[in-house]
Amino acid sequence: MFGHFTKRIGIDLGTANSLVWLAGEGVVLNEPTVVAVTVDDNRVVAVGNEAKEMLGRTPGNIVATRPMRDGVIADYRITEALLSYFIDRVAGRNRFFKPEVMICVPSGVTQVERRAVLDATLSAGARVAYLIEEPLAAAIGAKIPIAQASGHMIVDIGGGSTEAAVVSLGGVVVHKSARVAGNKLDEAIAVYIKRKYNLIIGERMAETIKITIGDAMSVVIPAKAGIHDKVDPRVTSTLLRVNKTEDDKMREGITNTMEVRGRDAVSGLPRMLELTRNEVAEAIGPTLHQIIGAVKAVLEDTPPELAADIIDKGIVMAGGTSLLTNLDKLMTQLTGVVCHVAEEPLLCVVRGTGVAIENIELYKRSINKK
Ligand code: ADP
Ligand code: MG
Repeated sequence: MFGHFTKRIGIDLGTANSLVWLAGEGVVLNEPTVVAVTVDDNRVVAVGNEAKEMLGRTPGNIVATRPMRDGVIADYRITEALLSYFIDRVAGRNRFFKPEVMICVPSGVTQVERRAVLDATLSAGARVAYLIEEPLAAAIGAKIPIAQASGHMIVDIGGGSTEAAVVSLGGVVVHKSARVAGNKLDEAIAVYIKRKYNLIIGERMAETIKITIGDAMSVVIPAKAGIHDKVDPRVTSTLLRVNKTEDDKMREGITNTMEVRGRDAVSGLPRMLELTRNEVAEAIGPTLHQIIGAVKAVLEDTPPELAADIIDKGIVMAGGTSLLTNLDKLMTQLTGVVCHVAEEPLLCVVRGTGVAIENIELYKRSINKK
């Protein structure tokens, strides 16, 4: 009886971006996961794009916050406000027929956190709330046939966390979540520039640098840097070899430097400098190794039969950070398994969440309900 009128909504609550899928339509909202609240009475004043504009330039009585930190919920009340906003935008405020909502959560969240998300979704106006784990949603969205009795590996590298998982028969078999992803790359770039040039840059400048001249294949592993001590020497030599051949020539045609603006840490005045692709690689190298470390840890824990499947089929990458230039190549080298980026990696999770709510019966083994 509800079927015809009830809207079905899928929400990817990401650390950087939140996306909303309306069954039958596709992605209808894509906004930064930012909420602006008043300091004194904690009232929500803006959400999404509008709130992001306020980040770093708010008057004293308003703070713009990111309620999802490192892939987990840092503030439930604010998360509920965010969910209300999305549900209202898509289903209307004075609704007679409440929508059914499926939320995607990181695989690492505890039972208590799961229940809290379901509760937040219900109080935000859902008639029924469902949860789907991120690796499953990402896999469905990447068009991986998750129900097969065969192992598939999906790695979702977003803003706050990297989720690496092997899925088979509609469930997650092995999983590892690391709280290191795109944001940590931005931080590493900012720290590097501060240390080397005494220049302070903003969050958004750091992200622009990463997207413009960040390149995983420029990452050279210095022999003496402490952090790399554990890296297999064979891997080092492969990397160095690749750096000096084909890829270098290919890169000659593209921009290798970028103008960076910031504030001088000593004089306090605005200053500009030219940053190179290799410098960015030096800055982000250690963080990239941490991300790939999570992938290797999952491979090491994968039962042999499934591992054989993965070697055959390769690893599928999703999430915004999988778009970092040549990250697929670096990951292929360091894991020894062919890695490729899914189609529209930023949309995989929301598409998978949406497809799951459109086909509840088909995916009910992979879903939690309240
Ligand atoms: P989340 O699921 O945590 O919200 P997303 O999957 O939306 O994260 O990815 C956001 C991250 O992807 C950000 O850190 C952003 O800087 C990064 N990103 C987006 N596009 C690119 C790109 N072309 N190259 C490198 N990083 C990118
Ligand atoms: Mg995500």
